[in-house]
Amino acid sequence: MLITDVKPYPVWGGNRNFFFVKVETDAGLYGIGEGGLTWRENACAEAVHHLKSLLVGQPASRIEHLWQVMFRGGFFPADKVISSAIGAIDIALWDLRGKALGVPVYELLGGRVRDRVVCYPHVTGDTPEELAERSRALVDAGWKFIRFGVPTEGSLFEPSRAVRRSVEQFAAIRAAVGDDIEICIDAHTRLDPPDAIRLCRELEQYRPYFVEDPLRSENMHSFHALARQTGVPLAAGEQFATKWDFRELIEEDLIQYCRIDLCICGGITEARKVAGWCETHYVALAPHNPLGPVSTAACLHLDLATSNFGVQELPRVPGSILPDVFPVQVPFADGHLLPPDRPGLGIEFNEEAAQDCRVRLGHAPRLHRADGSFTNW
Ligand SMILES: [Mg+2]
Repeated sequence: MLITDVKPYPVWGGNRNFFFVKVETDAGLYGIGEGGLTWRENACAEAVHHLKSLLVGQPASRIEHLWQVMFRGGFFPADKVISSAIGAIDIALWDLRGKALGVPVYELLGGRVRDRVVCYPHVTGDTPEELAERSRALVDAGWKFIRFGVPTEGSLFEPSRAVRRSVEQFAAIRAAVGDDIEICIDAHTRLDPPDAIRLCRELEQYRPYFVEDPLRSENMHSFHALARQTGVPLAAGEQFATKWDFRELIEEDLIQYCRIDLCICGGITEARKVAGWCETHYVALAPHNPLGPVSTAACLHLDLATSNFGVQELPRVPGSILPDVFPVQVPFADGHLLPPDRPGLGIEFNEEAAQDCRVRLGHAPRLHRADGSFTNW
């Protein structure tokens, strides 16, 4: 089965863009993948055009070989744009392999180690009371985890106040949902070390499942000081491309949860290697997935087949976005993703519907400090 075409599809999904890649073959089967570099969809589409010439005419079954060719074939190692494009293509190749063999992707990854995959939704709200009420409603609907973010004030971010409000909000959510529900908080790389240390220490009494991205992701060495000064579990990794970006956090035991994004790190092929590396350090996967139906499906298959798994991010339950583009999505019930029994990823892609959803170029929202200076969103 030879690859005949590789087509990028940046699409508008109603409130944000998504980026999909369709790989076609001479057997009439197609695979579908997704890239995760949000707000850089057109750059990723051009990267796919570059990579296409390396792929057309090649056997679709040589997934590892094609990953190496794509990653190293331009001499310069892939950056985040290229690794996102590689990730989308790689996920499509796994989908194709499953379809060709008539089995779900998790069977190709060693088979299921669990019956279902626990997920967390995002909860938002301006006040502790609002967050507590919405969290309680999510628990009543079957969710076992809650996740919220360190608050901003419109486009203003004042770190000291944000830390104080985060602690108040966390306390209110804990009181509302009780001790059997896990709570995650995402600082979204907004804090500097002193505020991150303060946040983590003050949250210890409320037992967070993890504190996510307390620091920016360019300099992993900054996690040493934080890890020395707090006992809360730390999570990071959603901005990383390839296994090498994860090296220091895993090898130095600086995180307890790996927020790998399959659609940025290089696909299922690369994520499996990171997962194995994490296993040797007792780090659990908590895959990053603010993305679309293909990312959700790819995460589900990896989670089903990975022993060291913690929780799956799922702000958009299957069927809630792009139902025309993906008329078949993976099963979900009561806060859990369930094993699909269809071959491949278990989803269907409608190319004509994707062509109708033209991408809308834009940039990430911007935050500023009180003095007008830029700060991470
Ligand atoms: Mg995050």
